[in-house]
Amino acid sequence: MAVSKADADDVLSAEADDHFHDECGVFGIFGRQDAAAIVTLGLHALQHRGQEAAGIVSYDGTQFHVERHVGLIGDTFTKQHVIDSLQGNRAIGHTRYATTGGAGMRNIQPFFAELADGGFAVAHNGNLTNAMTVQRALQKQGAIFSSTSDTETLLHLVATSKERDLNSRFIDAVRQVEGAFSLVAMTSKKMIGCRDPLGIRPLVLGDLDGAWILASETCALDIIGARFVRDLKPGEMVVVTSKGIESLFPFEPQKTRFCIFEYVYFARPDSSVEGRNVYEVRKRIGAELAQESPVEADIVVPVPDSGTPAAIGFSQAAGIPFELGIIRNHYVGRTFIQPGDSIRHMGVKLKHNANRRMIEGKRVVLVDDSIVRGTTSQKIVQMVRDAGAREVHMRIASPPTSASCFYGVDTPEKSKLLASRMSIEEMAEFIRVDSLGFLTIDGLYRAVGEAGRDNEQPQFCDACFTGQYPTRLLDFEGHDNVRTLSLLANNGA
Ligand code: SF4
Repeated sequence: MAVSKADADDVLSAEADDHFHDECGVFGIFGRQDAAAIVTLGLHALQHRGQEAAGIVSYDGTQFHVERHVGLIGDTFTKQHVIDSLQGNRAIGHTRYATTGGAGMRNIQPFFAELADGGFAVAHNGNLTNAMTVQRALQKQGAIFSSTSDTETLLHLVATSKERDLNSRFIDAVRQVEGAFSLVAMTSKKMIGCRDPLGIRPLVLGDLDGAWILASETCALDIIGARFVRDLKPGEMVVVTSKGIESLFPFEPQKTRFCIFEYVYFARPDSSVEGRNVYEVRKRIGAELAQESPVEADIVVPVPDSGTPAAIGFSQAAGIPFELGIIRNHYVGRTFIQPGDSIRHMGVKLKHNANRRMIEGKRVVLVDDSIVRGTTSQKIVQMVRDAGAREVHMRIASPPTSASCFYGVDTPEKSKLLASRMSIEEMAEFIRVDSLGFLTIDGLYRAVGEAGRDNEQPQFCDACFTGQYPTRLLDFEGHDNVRTLSLLANNGA
C-alpha cells in the first residue's frame, strides 16, 4: 500500500509518543578481555537514548572488527556469533535514534575508517551545527563522503589534519566543529573521550577492575558493576592507553551549558548526571509544579513512564494520593504499527490504557514531562475522560517547548510544536482539559538546585524553552530543525 508522507508522519507521531527523542548513547571500554560483551550490556542500559540501530567496533591487537545493525541491542548483539566476531580487549559502541542524516545503514555508528596511520573508530552523541558547512569545504578539496551523518565530517577532519600525532589531529578536528558532542573514539593504541566545551551532552568515566570505561550515563556503569569515577568535564578530552589515563583541555574555557532537558526526560531516572541524581531532580520538579500550579483534586496520575517521578513529587508536595491510573504496555514495538486507518487510531491505546477502577468519578491531575505536538496528550485526556474522570487537570513537568533542538535531539519543526503557535489557554482547549499548568523556567532551575535562571548568563542549555541557543547555528540558518536540513542534504541540496 502506498503511504503518503502525511500518513507516515501521523503513524510515527502516534507511535513515537509525542516526545523529543535523544539521538544517541555511547559506551567504550579499554583493557578487558570480554570487551564487546561488556559494551553490549552498557548499550543495553543506554537503549532509551536510541532504539533504531546500534554498532560495536573492537580491536584484538592485530585487527579491528565492526558490527553495525538496525534494531535494538538485544536483536543482534546478544547472538553468540556476533559477540564472538568482536574479539579484543577494547571496544566502543553506539546506539542510535536517527535524525541527522536519516536512518540508513550507512549512518549507523561507530564510524570506522583506515587512516594513514591505522584504524580509527568514533561514536558520537550530540549534533554538530557546522558539519555541513565543513563537509562542503572538504568536498571542494576532493573529499568523498559515504554517509550523510555529521559524525563522518569529524572523521574526515581527523584524517586530513596536518598535525603529526593522533592526539593532535583529534584536537585539530574537534576545534573546527561546533555544537554538541560527547565522543568516544578508538585506535589500535588508545581510547579517547571528549565533551564539547559547553558540555551539552553527558559523558561519564568509570572503572571496572582496572579497565577504563566511558559512557553516556551512570546506569550503564551500574549494569556491569563498574565504579563511577566522575563526569568528564565540559571541554575535557581523556586519552586511555595501556599506560593509564591522561586528561587534556583543548578548548578555551567557557561557561558551561548542560542540556537541562536531560533532567526532564532524556536521562534514565536511576542515572546521575553532572552530579545530580535524575530521579531526585524529577521529584523536585513535581514538587515545584505543585507549588506553582496547585489544583484541588482526588488523585495524581502519571502519564507513564516518563511522568512518574514528577507525579510522585507532585503528589507528596500537594498531599494528593498518587495512583497508577494509566497503565503502559511495554511491549509495543515500532514495527507493530501499520499504516491503516483502523490501526492508526488505536495508536495511543496500544501503549496506554486507563485503569478505570482508579479513575471513575475522580478529579484527576495528570502529570506528563512535556507537550510536543499535543496529539498524544489529547488522546490520553480523552481516554481518561472515557474512563469516567469527573475533571482532568494536566500538569507538565517542564516549561512549554516552543523551539527546536539542534544539539542531538529529534524535534519536530517549530511550527508543529503546540507551544510555538498557541497560548496556554488555547493549548488547554486543544487537549480538552479543565486546567493546564506548566512548570516555569525558574521552577525548573530551582529543581536542579539553582536559585533560578540567570538571564544574563544561563547556567544550562534551555533553548527549546527559551529560544536562546548557546552556540551559533551555522548550518541551520533558515531551517526549522535538524530533520528538514537532513532531507535537503539527502536530496543533494
Ligand atoms: S535545546 Fe533543549 S533539548 Fe536541546 S540541548 Fe538545549 S535544552 Fe537540551
